[in-house]
Amino acid sequence: MNGKLVIVAGPSGSGKTTIVRHLLGVYPRLAFSISASSRQKREGEIDGEDYYFLSVEEFKKRIKNGEFLEWEEVYPGSYYGTLRTEVERLWKAGRDVIFDIDVKGAMNLKKHYPGCSLAVFIQPPSLEVLEQRLRLRQTESADFFQQRIGKAKEELSYAAKFDHIIQNYGLQEAFAEAEKLIGDFLSTF
Ligand code: 5GP
Repeated sequence: MNGKLVIVAGPSGSGKTTIVRHLLGVYPRLAFSISASSRQKREGEIDGEDYYFLSVEEFKKRIKNGEFLEWEEVYPGSYYGTLRTEVERLWKAGRDVIFDIDVKGAMNLKKHYPGCSLAVFIQPPSLEVLEQRLRLRQTESADFFQQRIGKAKEELSYAAKFDHIIQNYGLQEAFAEAEKLIGDFLSTF
């Protein structure tokens, strides 16, 4: 039997990952969908926990085999995708699934599962704040930083397509809004 899908998207630096982590702590029936990615593993990341890290070749092979529910080349040369087996594994275990993915992937998942999914967009206060947050993060080179800003601008234009927009002006307020929204969604049939 299918469970539910909570799809969280928004630009890098919007706070979506922090909000997803918070929701995982609040609702034990939620399980995180571990994506596959061909990007470089960052320090501290664990294969099979943060992502299933694949080479570009392996990723492309799996695309050909139809193993992905959705996939995107989120940054040039860096592929990200949701494996069918990942969602099935979690549903089989009786869990509802929460996703932290890009806006296009979010829309594609929603199309696959229109009746049992909720797509939530996390909106940062402004592009300036987003830039500041990304600068502070400093996990990437200057080139990559520019890529992320470009991508963030594009992602912001998708907000209206989502079921719900959470304005992340402050984390406590955003947590409270997300908890209420997802709590209501999980308790409906
Ligand atoms: P990061 O490299 O910072 O971990 O993630 C980069 C972007 O890829 C983020 O916007 C993240 O949400 C997105 N992403 C992660 N997993 C997936 C996935 O399975 N599918 C898609 N379409 N995007 C993903």
